[in-house]
Amino acid sequence: MSIGILGGGQLGYMLALAGYPLGLRFRFLDPSPEAPVGRIAPRVTGDFSDRAALEKFAHGLEVVTYEFENVPVDAVHFLVKKVPVFPPPAALEAAQDRLREKQLFEKLGIATTEFASVPAASDLDLALKNVGMPAVLKTRRMGYDGKGQWNLRSPEEVKIAKDGLPKLPFTVERFVPFTRELSMIAVRGKGGETAFYPLVENHHRNGILRMSLAPAPDVGPEIQKAAEDAARKVLESLNYVGVLAIEFFECGGKLLANEMAPRVHNSGHWTIEGAVTSQFENHLRAVCGLPLGSTTAIGASAMINLIGEVPERAQVLAVSSAHLHLYGKEPRPGRKLGHVTLRAPSFEQLLPRFSSLPAFFQRSDFCLDASRGTRKSLA
Ligand code: AMP
Repeated sequence: MSIGILGGGQLGYMLALAGYPLGLRFRFLDPSPEAPVGRIAPRVTGDFSDRAALEKFAHGLEVVTYEFENVPVDAVHFLVKKVPVFPPPAALEAAQDRLREKQLFEKLGIATTEFASVPAASDLDLALKNVGMPAVLKTRRMGYDGKGQWNLRSPEEVKIAKDGLPKLPFTVERFVPFTRELSMIAVRGKGGETAFYPLVENHHRNGILRMSLAPAPDVGPEIQKAAEDAARKVLESLNYVGVLAIEFFECGGKLLANEMAPRVHNSGHWTIEGAVTSQFENHLRAVCGLPLGSTTAIGASAMINLIGEVPERAQVLAVSSAHLHLYGKEPRPGRKLGHVTLRAPSFEQLLPRFSSLPAFFQRSDFCLDASRGTRKSLA
């Protein structure tokens, strides 16, 4: 079976690695000749809006999926006429626009942050009256890893933000004093069957995911159920096929949906070694109409992103419970270059294993403070 993937970054790379043992073949479309997938699969280099490149890419494929949610929706509508595309374009449309995404959560009765539309900078004051302060202003489109966001904690910050805002539509949200960030990775097959991974606890630095702990410690069954119910509502309402990620804030023992990604997700990388079936394999099973695999976690995992620089390969591999993944990308500040997954039979056994990681991971700027914080709370 030949699968086309829009986007040739590390998510596509890991999808292909998961699909080869199932006998699947891949072709990628990416605008960059340096896309990491070039090492492992045929690739069409072209812009997503280039009709000739889309034609060449789609030729002979049985299904198309994407690893990048900012694929232009027009490109997907063009492809849908030639080959089935999953997840459906409606999921892409909702996830590309923060306002539509929040409205979808609201419509489905999924608790979310208080929000208001800000069509232009001149509408900010009125919107802030509705949501209250402190608040977070976000561009409706193309924001990721904390980009395109302004924290508004005082009238001075509002004024500074307003003076420098680009001419774009925004949303503004009430700032949530959350205790932690959790994410749900869910999957729905072509026949409507669903499966849910255990919630993951995420730690960010400078707006970029640094580490995920899975399953998230101290999650009661009611929180897991609330996350599964929210994901199920989104999956069913969109007639979704594939993996979906939803990020939540945990606040006062309740979950508030922050955003969703209609694709495999960085906070699901731990599933490669830490779950019976990885998110990548389950996504492929779903879009190919194959039975879904078990989402059960095997013990406890910590996934640590390698951002901007990578440690010595041999030093990481010397740690018996560590698994190294390098994406083959040129180092650049803020760039996700790889990840390491540490595994142990239980969360209590996982935490001491952090100290067996090489010095690279112990530096303050690398910051495993999250695990230290959790360790303290366990002590
Ligand atoms: P996002 O791009 O929406 O995932 O936001 C990036 C990060 O900014 C999140 O992971 C949070 O740490 C923080 N953030 C976003 N929205 C809010 C909010 N309404 N309240 C508090 N923190 C937020």
